Amino acid sequence: MERYKENQIKVYNSLSKKKENFKPITEGYVGMYVCGPTVYSNAHLGNVRTFMFFDIVYRYLLHLGYKVRYVRNITDAGHLENDADEGEDRIAKKARIEKIEPMEVVQRYTVDFHNVLKNYNFLPPSIEPTATGHIVEQIEMIKEIIAKGFAYEVNGSVYFDVLEYNKNEHYGILSGRKVEDLIHNTRTLDGQSDKKNPQDFALWKKADERHIMRWPSPWSDGFPGWHLECSVMSTKYLGEQFDIHGGGMDLKFPHHECEIAQSKTCSGKTPVNYWMHTNMLLLNSQKMAKSTGNFILPNEILSGENDILPKAFTASVVRFFNLQANYRSILDFSGEALEASEKGHTKLMEALNLLDKIESDKTSTFNVQEWENSCYDAMNDDFNTPILIANLFEAVKVINHIREQNASLTAPDLLAFKKALNSFVFDVLGLTNENHQANSEKINGVVELLIKLRKEARENKDWALSDQIRDELIVLGIQLKDGKEGTTFSVN
Ligand code: AMP
Ligand code: ZN
Repeated sequence: MERYKENQIKVYNSLSKKKENFKPITEGYVGMYVCGPTVYSNAHLGNVRTFMFFDIVYRYLLHLGYKVRYVRNITDAGHLENDADEGEDRIAKKARIEKIEPMEVVQRYTVDFHNVLKNYNFLPPSIEPTATGHIVEQIEMIKEIIAKGFAYEVNGSVYFDVLEYNKNEHYGILSGRKVEDLIHNTRTLDGQSDKKNPQDFALWKKADERHIMRWPSPWSDGFPGWHLECSVMSTKYLGEQFDIHGGGMDLKFPHHECEIAQSKTCSGKTPVNYWMHTNMLLLNSQKMAKSTGNFILPNEILSGENDILPKAFTASVVRFFNLQANYRSILDFSGEALEASEKGHTKLMEALNLLDKIESDKTSTFNVQEWENSCYDAMNDDFNTPILIANLFEAVKVINHIREQNASLTAPDLLAFKKALNSFVFDVLGLTNENHQANSEKINGVVELLIKLRKEARENKDWALSDQIRDELIVLGIQLKDGKEGTTFSVN
C-alpha cells in the first residue's frame, strides 16, 4: 500500500538543524545508511538505543509502503582507540590481550550483536557489509582522493588534506566546528604525527610490526582509516547521493564530518540529503559507554544477571522504555524507569487482549479515523514515538470504556481500530505481546484437540456430538473447514 502518498514525513536534519519535509531522491524508494557497531566487544544498551531508533525509522518507512534499502555496516577494522588516528586498532588490541585471532574477536561479537538484535525483535537490514570485505574499494577511493589533490602520503600512511578541502568546501558543515579551532584543539595530541596539519585525518595507516590486521596497498602494508569504510560502502550500495544517513550524536565529529569530506571530494556531490542523529542513553547521569565501564548489556537485562536492576525485564518492555523518549533527547536508564515502563506496557497489552473479546454495536462513540490520523501525525513528525505512545493510551481508555459499556464502535470501526492498533504496536514499534502469543499457542492446541475428538465422533457416527463441536466453536468465532487434507480452522 502506498501510504506514503498521504503521509508527508518531516525529518529533523542535523545538517540544516531544521525539520524538513522528507522527499526521497526517487519517489517510493528510500536509501538509508546507519553506522554499525565496532565488533570488539558486546554492544551495550546505549548502542542498542541508537540502532533501535533506526529500526523504527525502517519499520515506519516500510509501513508507509516505501521500498527501502537499509545498509548497516559492521566495523571490523580501522577503528582505533579513542576514535583517533594514532594508537592500536580496537579489534587487534582485544585479539592481542586474549591471545586469539582478530577474526575470532570479530566473529564472537558479530554473533553476539545479531543475537541481541534477534532477542530485541529488530528487522535485519537489507545489506550488512563489513570494512574488511571492502579493502579493495577503500584503496581505490584513496587513489581517487590523492589524484584529485586532497590527500598526501607520508612514510607509507595517507592523510586527507583538510585545509586544501576547506579552501572551496566547508569542513565543519555538519558538526559546526571551525578548522581554526581544530588546530588549537588537536596540536598537543598529535605531537609526533606525520600529518602536515593536525586537522588532517588518516585514510591509510602503515602497520607497525605489532599490528596484525594488515593489507597490501600502493603505500604500505597497512589498514584503512575508520571514516573511509562508511564513504565507500554507502556509495557502493546506495549511490553517490542517498536519502538518510544515521548514527549516534557522538559520531557527528569527526566520523561523519570526514565521511562528507571524502565522499564530496570523489563525487563532487553532497552525499546525504538527511542526516539523523540519536541522543545518548545515560546510566548514573553519565553516557553509557564501554570505555568507562558505565554500561549494561541488553541480554543481562533479559536474564536479570546484573548488579543494576532489581529483576529481569522482557525485551518488549525495554523497547517500550526506549520509545517513550524522543530520540533527540537524552534518556536516563534506571530500574525505576524500567518498572514504570513495564506497568505501561502491561496496560497496553492487556487492553489489546481485551480487544479480541469486544463486540461491535450499532453506533460509534469514538472517531477511529481521527485517532488513526493522529497516530500517523505523530510518526510523520520526525518519528515522534512518545506522542504515538500517548495516542495508544487514548486507545487503551476507549477499549476500557467499551468494556464497561460506556462507549461503542460499529463493526467496520471496530475492525479499523483493531487493524490500526495492531499495526502501530507490533509492526511500527516492534513490540511483542508475550502473553498473547502464549495464549494463542494454547488456543491452537485446544482447537486441534477438539478437531481430533470430532473426527473420532464422526468415525463412530456420533453426528450430534460432531455438529455440537463445530457449532459451538462457531459461536466462539472459530470456523472449522473440512477439506481433502483434513480439517483446518480460522479464528475471527
Ligand atoms: P560503536 O560500536 O562504538 O561504533 O557505536 C555504535 C553506535 O552506538 C554509534 O552510532 C554510537 O553513536 C552509538 N552509541 C554509543 N554510545 C551510545 C549511548 N550511550 N547512547 C546512544 N547511542 C550510543
Ligand atoms: Zn560510519
